[in-house]
Amino acid sequence: MRPSVLDTLFASITSLPGVGPKVAATISGLVCPPGVEEARVRDLLFHLPSSTIDRRKRVTIADAPEGEIVTLQVHIDRAQFPPKGTSQPARIYAYDASGDIALTYFRPQQSWLEKQLPPGEEMLVSGKVEHFNGRAQMVHPDFVAPVAEAEHLPLVEPVYPMTAGLSAKTLRKAITEALSRLPQFEEWIEPSITKRQGFPDFSEALLQLHNPETPLDADPACPAFRRLAYDEFLASQVTLALYRQQAKKLKGRVLGGNGELRARMLASLPFQLTDAQQHVLREILADMALPERMIRLLQGDVGAGKTVVALMAMAAAAESGAQSALLVPTEILARQHFASLEPLCLAVGLSITLLTGRDTGQERAAKLKAIASGQTQIIVGTHALFQESVDYHNLGLAVVDEQHRFGVHQRLELTRKGQAPDLLVMTATPIPRTLVLTAFGDMDVSRLGGKPAGRQPITTVAVPMDRIGEIVDRAGRAIAEGEKLYWVCPLVEESEKSDLTAAQERYETLKQFFGDQVGLVHGQMAAEEKDAAMAAFKSGQTRIIVATTVVEVGVDVPDASIIVIEHAERFGLSQLHQLRGRVGRGSKQSSCVLLYKTPLTANARARLAIMRETEDGFRLAEEDLRLRGEGDLLGTRQSGVQSFRIARLDVHADLMEAARDDARLLLTRDAELQSERGQAVRTLLYLFGKDDAIRLIRAG
Ligand code: ADP
Ligand code: MG
Repeated sequence: MRPSVLDTLFASITSLPGVGPKVAATISGLVCPPGVEEARVRDLLFHLPSSTIDRRKRVTIADAPEGEIVTLQVHIDRAQFPPKGTSQPARIYAYDASGDIALTYFRPQQSWLEKQLPPGEEMLVSGKVEHFNGRAQMVHPDFVAPVAEAEHLPLVEPVYPMTAGLSAKTLRKAITEALSRLPQFEEWIEPSITKRQGFPDFSEALLQLHNPETPLDADPACPAFRRLAYDEFLASQVTLALYRQQAKKLKGRVLGGNGELRARMLASLPFQLTDAQQHVLREILADMALPERMIRLLQGDVGAGKTVVALMAMAAAAESGAQSALLVPTEILARQHFASLEPLCLAVGLSITLLTGRDTGQERAAKLKAIASGQTQIIVGTHALFQESVDYHNLGLAVVDEQHRFGVHQRLELTRKGQAPDLLVMTATPIPRTLVLTAFGDMDVSRLGGKPAGRQPITTVAVPMDRIGEIVDRAGRAIAEGEKLYWVCPLVEESEKSDLTAAQERYETLKQFFGDQVGLVHGQMAAEEKDAAMAAFKSGQTRIIVATTVVEVGVDVPDASIIVIEHAERFGLSQLHQLRGRVGRGSKQSSCVLLYKTPLTANARARLAIMRETEDGFRLAEEDLRLRGEGDLLGTRQSGVQSFRIARLDVHADLMEAARDDARLLLTRDAELQSERGQAVRTLLYLFGKDDAIRLIRAG
């Protein structure tokens, strides 16, 4: 149950004076997260100013800069009201030692205005000064007040993100009312952190941000703002920690093994594991050997060699008599993994099967039977692996590849199957550390650095589209020399709205040059067609494959050595990096051609420059975060990774790690959030809408 201390904040904003149903609807549209219809008082309070107007600047009339907001101290001289029925404005003439100014009002109520600005008074007026026919004027001053009441002037005014149909005044009034409803909360942040960071308490922080006395008081870097960002991070990290606790609660099994299968596997590999691979493998095997469940993320750049690490882990599981499932996001990848793993498994006597949505009828039934009986030790597949109809004999290890497409809920779903398998998640998106904590804060992390030995650096060039002819010539020479080449286009068909080059069209033109040596694969093809196209490319039957971004995820054709990316300026850095990672996988010298359309935006130019400068995925990820924001990098929409309402990863990233540690420590001391601080943290969770986390506690 939500603590009653939150009742006022969770009341509808219509409970605030001056907020009727119509205003409430407009405000809700502005302040609610997507999918929420009706704003509560809390949502209004979380609607923080995006900037401030500084009225502290006092100048004389003569010195007032054109169009800037200033505050003047003036002597009111006289009022001039237009005859009734004309469209002339009313003018209040005022002066100071430097000159005159007209305070201009359109259709004012005369008695009101006379009371506001009585002739003979010394007044402060604040607003924009403009010059009209060489004379200074201020149209509808934002504030006027007698000099004696100067302290009542809101000299630093918060500016809010706005929406049509809502006046700043109405919003301001509603927020002021909302602030008056703020209760006093028990502190939920660890005292040492509040002290070290100089955080004000929660309510104080909100009051300060909405009523800044200086522009710095509403700045994202100020302690009050950081406090709220920390609160938001903490709520999210406690949630992840609760998921972790829940997942760990299911007793795992000891998957130690005797090393026998692994030894044979190593002996049959055509290469030696790199030091980095051995290191992460040790971390994984150590987890698996513990009775506690493994919940581990293996982070490694494209081509870093994660698959073989997973294979070794699956062999270890098999040594302990347990089955493993390797889950991948697409059919192509499933087949590809299966094709490369099958010979390695057969060589050491491991039985492996492929299960996808395409298996039907008797074939599927036979596979399911082999899985249920335990005859099959390793199962590779897509989501179909976790359908209700799939029964495992003894699932000990679940490996999830290219994890950025799965969210935390889906992760938990996997673990419901069977006997709480150890979980190894692999991602090829080199995510900045902060985002790892955001998206995978519930997991332990292994980082697989570097690339297998013998790899050549990839030469990257950026070429404007009007030189495409040269690139086609070069492609021709390359394939004549036996090279293979990816040609990536962003969209399948020319749409009216976009002038992106269609893959279909490019395929046709390249065919005119190179005939049957050109293949095509795109997202709208039937799965069998896609496989056939990829297989033809892999076998060398085709030497150029024109593709949409379906090749982005994990496709492995080690002897492809050139990738041409059309409209490279439209791709984000992470995507370009993923695409480039399709080449440079073997020992050949590889190259990447970024074809771009001019003119380039500054941002696009920066992306292309960084691509030429580095191949380091982690560096590219940091730059991508900087250039694009966190959303696109993770593919937030698919993955269900949350975005934040208050916190900004570009400003507050440093707080995330502290929040993670704080959250985990809290739960080790107080797993059920029963202590005084635990109760306060429950309030925090409700405050940030983490009701699902609360359910996890109760389920425990
Ligand atoms: P990713 O991490 O992107 O999944 P893969 O596991 O697909 O990378 O590995 C990329 C390529 O590198 C594969 O062809 C694989 O066989 C090869 N590879 C993996 N480990 C090594 C190694 N230690 N030495 C040489 N080649 C390796
Ligand atoms: Mg892979």
